[in-house]
Amino acid sequence: MTIQQMKTPKANRLHIGIFGKRNAGKSSLLNALVNQDISIVSDVAGTTTDPVEKTMEFLPLGPVVFIDTAGIDDADPKLGLSRIEKTKKIFDRTDIAIIVCDYDGWDEYEISLYEEFEKRNIPVLSVITKQDIKNIHADKLDEITKYVKIPLLTSMANNNREIVYKLKEQLVSVCPEDFITPPSILGDLVKPKDTVILVVPVDKEAPKGRLILPQVQVIRDLLDNRCKAFVVQETELKETINELKNRPKLVITDSQAFKEVAADVEQEIPLTSFSIVFARMKGDLKEFYQGARAIDTLKDNDRVLICESCTHHQIEDDIARVKIPRWIKTKTGKDIKFDYHSGHDFAKNLEDYALLIHCGACMTNRREVLSRIMKCKEANLPVTNYGIAIAHCLGILERAIAPFNIMDSGE
Ligand code: SF4
Repeated sequence: MTIQQMKTPKANRLHIGIFGKRNAGKSSLLNALVNQDISIVSDVAGTTTDPVEKTMEFLPLGPVVFIDTAGIDDADPKLGLSRIEKTKKIFDRTDIAIIVCDYDGWDEYEISLYEEFEKRNIPVLSVITKQDIKNIHADKLDEITKYVKIPLLTSMANNNREIVYKLKEQLVSVCPEDFITPPSILGDLVKPKDTVILVVPVDKEAPKGRLILPQVQVIRDLLDNRCKAFVVQETELKETINELKNRPKLVITDSQAFKEVAADVEQEIPLTSFSIVFARMKGDLKEFYQGARAIDTLKDNDRVLICESCTHHQIEDDIARVKIPRWIKTKTGKDIKFDYHSGHDFAKNLEDYALLIHCGACMTNRREVLSRIMKCKEANLPVTNYGIAIAHCLGILERAIAPFNIMDSGE
């Protein structure tokens, strides 16, 4: 594996979850797939209690994360509760699910797993293990094929290479198209030789000596699209635009500088933010746009949930804890309460909230954000994202969303 491949951010990797009862052979399968002892393999049921993640270059698919989960068929409720929670969280990040079971075949447990993935439109494969101990009965195999077309039979002790090869074939055949051919971040908005200006404030929130992932990914995407990318701070923006012979095709700013940037960029020049660009790539732009309207109906004592996809050091003027609450309170004039969730955790009490505001989700995959949107919809909770909420509070949402034509595209 090259250093470049090693550095593919986890968020951009295909997430393959391995699920099944305790001691079904999930960890042995992961070890066979990655060709090393990553998961602890034991005959004692329930050895894997925390999900085990392994990132690797899995040719021909490319960068993937395998996640070996704990069996959640636990008879002891006390012992199994946190294990169940940890495994259920992995459902939200899974792009492809592999259900592992042994010769006893499927019962309600595997069927409930299958139905959960089917509800989420997640492709499911199945591996039937321990065939060296006992072959699965033909009736049971027939039952499984009602759900999964071609279950793979293996002992895991033998023919590991063969089962890995067959599993790879199946993974390629069910792999979501947008992973095989990832859409360009801005490819539908720009063409070769276009000039795009990126506004990157170097403030207290900026990490020392480097750009953040969304900025780097946008620059790379513009280079892939043969565009000219100018990266400036907001203080140099006006001068840069004036120096250009032609108008820039697009200006993308950090959301926090939206107000100043909008004042400096004439109306005819399309303007948006990194956060909105990522709302489209990592979530559902139309849903987030509609969700922002809920800001206008917030009442005194309403609670707003702010979700961040990673835990990070909070700074003095933190966007989630200081700036967004301030913008929303100024816009509404109401006394709103704010709660927070960071990392892969997600609130269960969604009915307590009037609005959920999600971060740009640069550190997680789209599947997890879509799962969260799905849960919000089930709970009738409006959901939006940082950039869209900020643009709405500053009165520039229509302008910031205009480059994407979301109403025409049915996105
Ligand atoms: S909080 Fe969200 S947008 Fe910010 S760095 Fe973490 S994942 Fe990215």
